[in-house]
Amino acid sequence: MNHSFFQLLETRPLLVGDGGMGTMLLQAGLEQGSCGELWNVERLETIAEIQRCYVDAGSDFILTNTFGGSPPTLAKHGLAGRTEELNEAGVKAARAAADGRCLVLGDIGPSGEILEPYGDKTFDDLREDFKRQAAGLASGGVDAFIIETMMDINEVRCAFTAVRDVSDLPIIISMCFKAAGDRYRTMFGTSATDAAREMESLGAAAAGSNCMVEIEEFIPIVRQMREGTSLPIMAQPNAGQPRLEGDKAVYATTAEAMMPHVPALVEAGARLLGGCCGTTPDYIRLLRQWVDKSK
Ligand SMILES: [Zn+2]
Repeated sequence: MNHSFFQLLETRPLLVGDGGMGTMLLQAGLEQGSCGELWNVERLETIAEIQRCYVDAGSDFILTNTFGGSPPTLAKHGLAGRTEELNEAGVKAARAAADGRCLVLGDIGPSGEILEPYGDKTFDDLREDFKRQAAGLASGGVDAFIIETMMDINEVRCAFTAVRDVSDLPIIISMCFKAAGDRYRTMFGTSATDAAREMESLGAAAAGSNCMVEIEEFIPIVRQMREGTSLPIMAQPNAGQPRLEGDKAVYATTAEAMMPHVPALVEAGARLLGGCCGTTPDYIRLLRQWVDKSK
């Protein structure tokens, strides 16, 4: 697709992203706890098939299957040495699924490391780690980057700087917030408003929130982010709260049950819509229909 992310934002009032990947990978037979990114190489067509469900449902952009593709996360599977390869292959799979119909965003999730002063990882070391992941995604040929499911604003700064070390492409930032008193905050205490302000000052192309809570709570989250930024805002809620069935997390809120909250979410200021854990192509299909109708 030759539309850049900014052109897409200029021409469409609302953008539809994709839904959950983890649950779909487990359904496709990935063993709980094993490395999903390895499938970018070993089962590329399975990855592309899952992503194709989202493209067919009407996504304007999809994410690469590289959420756990930073060296510290891959190291848990003994795969840190293959960081560049697994990320580059992730782009190849997503490109095959997109086939020119939507944008491909290079996905960067949390590293699992805790930065100083709370943990012992230094900013510079982690920046080098993220740089390797970003380099793999860039050489695969992404349209833009997304740094998502982040809990620590300092890790966001680190990942953002690392991507900028290797690429000038647009970067979306998305963090997780939970209610704390009358405000929504990260688990490290940064308010949604302050986080959004920081995303803008870093130079993000869009400011978002994903995961953690269900769709109703994204309405105040988006409102509070809006107080801190004039950037386009992204909201990607989970399909409700997970319930454990054996060792599997089950997300029970249906696409139909999520949809009635979408108008209020858009009213609050969300322009980029999609879903996180447990959301499915059905949800993306309903979002697409709603967005097309509300034009
Ligand atoms: Zn999630």
